[in-house]
Amino acid sequence: MTDSTMRALVVEQLGGPEVLQLRDVPVPQPGAGQVRVKVEAVGINFADVLAVRGEYLTRTRLPMTPGMEFAGSVDALGEGVMGFSVGQRVAVLGGVGGLAEFAVVPAGALLPVPESLSAPEAAAFPVSYLTAFFALSTLGYSRAGEWVVVQAAAGALGTASVQLAKSMGLNVIALASSDEKLQVARDLGADVTFTSDTADLVDRVREATGGRGANLVLEVVGGKGFQGSLDMLAPRGRVIVIGAASREPSTLRPVELMKRNLTVTGLWLTSLMQDPEAAREAVAFLTPLLASGQVRPQVGPTYALAETGQAFEDLLGRRTTGKVIIEPQR
Ligand code: NDP
Repeated sequence: MTDSTMRALVVEQLGGPEVLQLRDVPVPQPGAGQVRVKVEAVGINFADVLAVRGEYLTRTRLPMTPGMEFAGSVDALGEGVMGFSVGQRVAVLGGVGGLAEFAVVPAGALLPVPESLSAPEAAAFPVSYLTAFFALSTLGYSRAGEWVVVQAAAGALGTASVQLAKSMGLNVIALASSDEKLQVARDLGADVTFTSDTADLVDRVREATGGRGANLVLEVVGGKGFQGSLDMLAPRGRVIVIGAASREPSTLRPVELMKRNLTVTGLWLTSLMQDPEAAREAVAFLTPLLASGQVRPQVGPTYALAETGQAFEDLLGRRTTGKVIIEPQR
C-alpha cells in the first residue's frame, strides 16, 4: 500500500470464493456524516457468504467489497460528525466494505467498544449478540426458568445465544453436528446437549424438559428438521426463524399451530436495527454484560485478508466454531 492506496477484496461477479479478488484500490474518503475506520478485524457471517453467492435475502449490488461487521479505530471524520474522535476504538454494524484495510461508513453504523474487548472480540459481537438478544427477548418473550433450544450452538450466533440465554436465567438445550461442537456449548453453560442427528430428538427434548417441551426454539437450520422444531415445543411455545443454513425449504401448515397455540416469528437483524428505539434498547442491554465479561464473544478461526476465500469455505463447510475473523492489517 502507498499513502493513497490500500488492499481490499473486490467482488465483480457472484459466485464462490474464487470471485473474491484482492486488489490495490484508493483509500476511501469520508463524506459528510461519514467516518473512515482503520479495519483491524472483520466478523464473517453466513450472510456474507450467501450475499457473495447471490443467495441472500436481498439482491447483491456489484461491484462490492463485502464485510458488514468489523472493528478497528476511527481514522478520519467527515464533515459534521460529532461524538467520535480519531483513534477511538469502534465496532461497525451494517456497513459494507469491511474486507479492506480502511472502510468508510455512516457515523450511525458505529458502536462503542468496551475497553475489555480485543479487536477480534469486538468484531465478533454486533451481529451475533444483537440477533441473540432480539430472538430471546424482543421477539422470543423468554422468561427466566424457561427452556430454549439453540441450534448450531457452537457457531457464532449459537455461542452468543447460549451465553445470553444463560445470563437471562434460561435453561439451554444445545444442538450441533458433533460432540466436539457440543463441548463448546457445554463450556459456555449449556444445560443439556444433543447432536442434531439424534434419531429421537423430539422425545429427548421432551424428556429433558420434564415432558412439557421447549418454550422457545431458535431455528437457524430449516429444511426437513423444521417440523421437529414445532414438535418439540411446549404449549404456547415459540419458534423464532432466524436462518436456513441447510438452504433447504421448510414446510409450515398454519393450522397445525392452533392446537397447542404455537407461534412462529421471523427475525431479520437488518430491519430490526432500523428501529432506533429497539436498537438502543438492545445495545443498552448488551453493553454492561460485555464490559463486565459476563458474556464474551467467541473468536473462532482467524485469517489474513488474502485467505478470505478459505474462511468462506470453512464457514459454509461447517468446519468452524465461534466467529470467523479476518485481520486485514496483517
Ligand atoms: P455459524 O457460525 O453458526 O455457522 C453456521 C452453522 O450452521 C454451521 O457451523 C453448522 O453448525 C450449521 N449448519 C447446519 N446445517 C448446515 C449446512 N447444511 N451447511 C452449513 N452449515 C450448516 O454462522 P452464523 O452465526 O453466521 O449464522 C448462523 C445462522 O443464523 C445462519 O443460518 C444465518 O443465516 C443466521 N443468522 C441470521 C440473522 C438474521 O438477522 N436473521 C443474523 C445472524 C445469523 P453444525 O455443524 O453444528 O450444524
